[in-house]
Amino acid sequence: MKKLTREEKFMRRAITAAKRGLKQGEVPIGAVVVVEDKVVASGYNRRAKLQLASAHAEMMAIDRACKKFASWRLPEGAELYVTLEPCPMCMGAALNARVDKVYFGAYEQKGRSLTQELADANLLNHKTEVVGGVLEEECSALLTGFFVEMRRKAKEEKAKHSQEEMEEK
Ligand SMILES: [Zn+2]
Repeated sequence: MKKLTREEKFMRRAITAAKRGLKQGEVPIGAVVVVEDKVVASGYNRRAKLQLASAHAEMMAIDRACKKFASWRLPEGAELYVTLEPCPMCMGAALNARVDKVYFGAYEQKGRSLTQELADANLLNHKTEVVGGVLEEECSALLTGFFVEMRRKAKEEKAKHSQEEMEEK
């Protein structure tokens, strides 16, 4: 088996976090914050459970990391790993927390994330490097699997309902 690179190792931790969300019926997206080669915080998408638009994996992980360091500004060299390309809110949070490097796995559909654009805009006078496609296949398989399963369940439900309707008639 191919040895994992440092980045892939941390992405695996984000995948583990995503799977925790999956068990709770959430869209499986996970994130970890790494400082000095250690995972200091992790998070997963909890939008369904919390019914909060901001309950994205990255927000959870960044908030936890800030709490840990008791600072909105994360230590120099802080990295964010996330299984799916971050949305503008999360990329904005990463910039606000002064994350130095953002690694993501699966790519969001073209032009919908603005990840690189936000990094290049240099809004906060902070340079953040973005690297996409880390363990891309694993990360997107996780998402695809979830949506396939969801559609299968929806179909099953529908079949069950029409069966019941038939029986009632
Ligand atoms: Zn987001």
